Amino acid sequence: MQDIKYQISYSQRRRTVQLAIRNGEVYVRAPATICRHWLSAWLQQKELWVQQTLARITTPPILPWLQRDRILVSGQAVPFRWQLAAKSSVNVDANGLELRLSTKIAAARQDHYARKLVQQHFTKQALLELPVLANELAARLRQTLGPVVVGNWRSRWGHCKQNGELGFNWRLMQVPLWVRRYVVIHELAHLQHMNHSPAFWQLVQQHCPQYREAKAWLKQHQAELLN
Ligand SMILES: [Zn+2]
Repeated sequence: MQDIKYQISYSQRRRTVQLAIRNGEVYVRAPATICRHWLSAWLQQKELWVQQTLARITTPPILPWLQRDRILVSGQAVPFRWQLAAKSSVNVDANGLELRLSTKIAAARQDHYARKLVQQHFTKQALLELPVLANELAARLRQTLGPVVVGNWRSRWGHCKQNGELGFNWRLMQVPLWVRRYVVIHELAHLQHMNHSPAFWQLVQQHCPQYREAKAWLKQHQAELLN
């Protein structure tokens, strides 16, 4: 029963055990005469539910796009601002990302369009930058590069097909360059090993010594980015 702190109170009048979570605290109310061993076993049974409920409370919800004030650009959380304008546009500079939404867009569709415009912006960027990066890294891995495509997936950062096609998620423009390089090296290494065998990881490590940190970075940010 480590990790979870229970606030247990006993009452003479109480007949049943009550378990409640309020403000991140776990409260247990129990009859004064209750067998402590029984209570301990009962709480053990509830542990998974308590942990899941606490995790839900402590993980901040994904904000609607227009309620965000920061956005990741190449791994940096920069200011995110938006305003209504005659024409929609996205501009990224040293001050952050500035989104203009056309006044023609209905209020209920604004959030949807905000995401779409950001996606378009980064996709365009990715189509310019990722083939160049893939080319540079392919030369290092002595691989012949096939077509490079950019896509919108919620479950993966990239792919490598049998025909040599490499695919990359547009959201890679939001991750730091060293993490982006890892994803490209990972997919290029699949041109040689179509699996995740020790030989595959050895090849990845050879060209990306910090691949474990890169994997950890992606894992830490995937809920935020792949939504
Ligand atoms: Zn893989």
